[in-house]
Amino acid sequence: RARAEGQGTTRFFEPGMDAVLTARHALEGALRQAAAAEDFTLHYQPVFEVRSRRLLGFEALLRWTHPERGPVSPADFVPLLEETGLILPVGAWVLRTACREALRWPDPIGVAVNLSPVQFRRAEVLSAVRTALDETGLAPHRLTLEITEGLLLQHTEEVLETLAQLRALGVGIALDDFGSGYSSLAYLWRFRFDMLKIDRAFVRALRRDGKAAAIIESIVGLGHSLDLRITAEGVEMEEQLAALSGVGCDEAQGFLLGKPMPAEQAQALAQGGGRIASLAAA
Ligand code: C2E
Ligand code: MG
Ligand code: MG
Ligand code: MG
Repeated sequence: RARAEGQGTTRFFEPGMDAVLTARHALEGALRQAAAAEDFTLHYQPVFEVRSRRLLGFEALLRWTHPERGPVSPADFVPLLEETGLILPVGAWVLRTACREALRWPDPIGVAVNLSPVQFRRAEVLSAVRTALDETGLAPHRLTLEITEGLLLQHTEEVLETLAQLRALGVGIALDDFGSGYSSLAYLWRFRFDMLKIDRAFVRALRRDGKAAAIIESIVGLGHSLDLRITAEGVEMEEQLAALSGVGCDEAQGFLLGKPMPAEQAQALAQGGGRIASLAAA
């Protein structure tokens, strides 16, 4: 009907577009306030060694609670932080906070921090990481930085140079969500990573799909031949863990082993030696 009315077609969609923009502006305003007040928290998801079932460390995950709407998923607000540039101050806060909280865990239990491609744009990331390590005194070997393939698609020379400088600080570099995007083997060839994190999609497919198992097995083989550690994310079922163990995957993370948890709980887990009930039998 809208089409038959000619000009009415555009008008038909306008209220919807306005509503989307208004909602976005409201969210952006609330995010700006949160950034100014550093009104975020970090949750920590445990990572275990598959073979020994020992706790190795935690991944820091950003959490934000909107004053009226309640908790908002990072999948929804991280892109907005990136578009507005707020990811620079917030990302620096994440680094400082993760390093400070990790300092309370027994050495060598480590912390992994996700970095946005936007943080690399002005090489600010190098000073943010240095500052976080200097201010807190966390040993660099206890910090891992997770980057995504998206980063490597842009400004490659500059990015590789910055990554090399970061690695020279003594921190680990992990390639996150490996296999989910435009994974190019050339990245593995051109930069010396410390770790590959296999994307959740492959782990999810493990049960029903023989191809997923074959792909994971070859990623593990490739990674090991390049001297990389392999982590699987999104492990939700015992049979997935068993399959990962079977192909020699080094580390695992997922709801089966532990959900992201507040700092106090992570500290208790770290100090308790990382025993988890569901793993006790192994
Ligand atoms: P990611 O780095 O791949 O983090 C893993 C995500 O998978 C987390 O979602 C985690 O809660 C979820 N997850 C872990 N185990 C399982 C599982 O067994 N099943 C399922 N279904 N999900 C699982 P979360 O916390 O919502 O974070 C989503 C994404 O937001 C992260 O993906 C990361 O890309 C981004 N992000 C989170 N915190 C930060 C941050 O501090 N800085 C930046 N730049 N990005 C962040
Ligand atoms: Mg990650
Ligand atoms: Mg990931
Ligand atoms: Mg992921």
